[in-house]
Amino acid sequence: MMEHNNEEAQSLILNRMSWVELEEKMKDGLDLVLIPVGATEQHGPNGSFGVDSGRAEGFVERLAQRLYPRAVAIPVVSYGISPHHMNFPGTITLQSETFLAVLEDIVDSLYLHGFRKFFFANAHGGNRPAMILLMGKIKAQYPDVQAAWSSFTSAAGDVIREKVTSSTSGHACEGEMSQAMYLAPWSVKEDRVPGDIVLSAEQMAERRVIGQAMTFDEITANGALGDASLASWDLGRDIIETALDRIESFLHEF
Ligand SMILES: [Zn+2]
Repeated sequence: MMEHNNEEAQSLILNRMSWVELEEKMKDGLDLVLIPVGATEQHGPNGSFGVDSGRAEGFVERLAQRLYPRAVAIPVVSYGISPHHMNFPGTITLQSETFLAVLEDIVDSLYLHGFRKFFFANAHGGNRPAMILLMGKIKAQYPDVQAAWSSFTSAAGDVIREKVTSSTSGHACEGEMSQAMYLAPWSVKEDRVPGDIVLSAEQMAERRVIGQAMTFDEITANGALGDASLASWDLGRDIIETALDRIESFLHEF
């Protein structure tokens, strides 16, 4: 595993650049846009509403550092598709159509500026179906564009299966809060508790067979699914650095 704690690591972050600097970097070979995609969503008593956006942003900033000076990180899309969390106060959801339109508008804008390569790093499960639709829409509209996405946690699925010890997981859990400790420590609460499960894994699987939508309060009373009290910075580093290694090597060929 590579170490990236060298002094003054450089990265291109759009919000910190002027257009003059951007244009210069594009002449020097900057050709890839990194788009962090998050959500504003409850994470039980274990984390803040910013867990997903914070993880997405932290991940993409590290990726931009590794790919310097070829890639630029743009501001995080901090609202996602979260209707299943709306019974917990504070969650803000976009309609799927709005979410897709926002991401398409981002691509349209940057296409006009000459970009043809886009990588979306998604931190929220509820966004996944829309990300798949988005890839199809971009390909149909722009035959000269290359677009790809990853729910970056799944790029390290084997690490999660090997190292996460909780019997259940899925949200505001051991794996997710470990990643948050590593990428966005400000989003993690000090006292973390296991999920207060209402619906067992078997009952959930049964309901999924026939495709019923479930809201999170039907599954867990406190909004967490898994045991975030077992979360650790070390586990977060193992998951994230593995995902970064794999996505970085994919993007080298992209
Ligand atoms: Zn989350």
